[in-house]
Amino acid sequence: MLSIRDLHVAYGGTRAVDGLDLDVAAGQTVLLIGANGAGKSSLINAVIGLVSSARGQITFEGRNISGLSSDARARLGIGYSPEGRRVFPSMSVKDNVLSGAATKSQREQSERWDQLVASFPFLAERQAQPAGQLSGGQQQLVAIARAMSGTPRLLLLDEPFLGLAPVWIQQISTAVRQMQEQGIAILMTEQMARPALKIAHYGHVMRSGQIRRSGTTDEIKGAALAEEYL
Ligand code: ATP
Repeated sequence: MLSIRDLHVAYGGTRAVDGLDLDVAAGQTVLLIGANGAGKSSLINAVIGLVSSARGQITFEGRNISGLSSDARARLGIGYSPEGRRVFPSMSVKDNVLSGAATKSQREQSERWDQLVASFPFLAERQAQPAGQLSGGQQQLVAIARAMSGTPRLLLLDEPFLGLAPVWIQQISTAVRQMQEQGIAILMTEQMARPALKIAHYGHVMRSGQIRRSGTTDEIKGAALAEEYL
């Protein structure tokens, strides 16, 4: 579904991503593990079209998307939940979530809201509240629900577990499993790999903009441990 070949991202003299190849199949969850500054966010941002300096080939469902705007990529079915729970703080929870479905009709938005509420009941309880008033875990779920509201076929989750209490890690893991059952492809990044290794199918250990180890989550557990990402 997603195929990346020889990707380079540089900021001035800094090589953030340095000749990287990566694939994600439909229904597959691929985890990218790496320390601060390894290049994980730069890779995600290149896939969604947020870095102008990206070079290389990015193919989504057989189509080269490298030259497309991030809006066009979103319309093709690529959803994104950014690092750091970036919700719109003064906007209501419901408006935050549905901002990810802005191009859809009222009827589709209302259907999508009902589906998301069935997965995350707290969205209904808090729907009118400004998102900035929620706890960190709730804000992260709002960000993920926003990415899901556009009915993506590929979802990019940048450090979804960062700084969260176990109860929220559990809820997000459940949401990821539901998306896997729906055949959604997921590319997620994490520094703390332990909970992410439980839900991913395949993983890569990234350092200095390059993939150093790849394998099934069982295969890379040892490498992740050795590099202190657990
Ligand atoms: P983190 O977990 O901290 O987000 P990361 O693995 O996602 O780390 P990136 O954020 O992609 O890593 O950063 C990779 C390298 O690129 C780092 O050396 C970082 O300092 C640099 N970098 C990232 N964004 C920029 C930018 N906008 N301008 C200049 N340098 C940048």
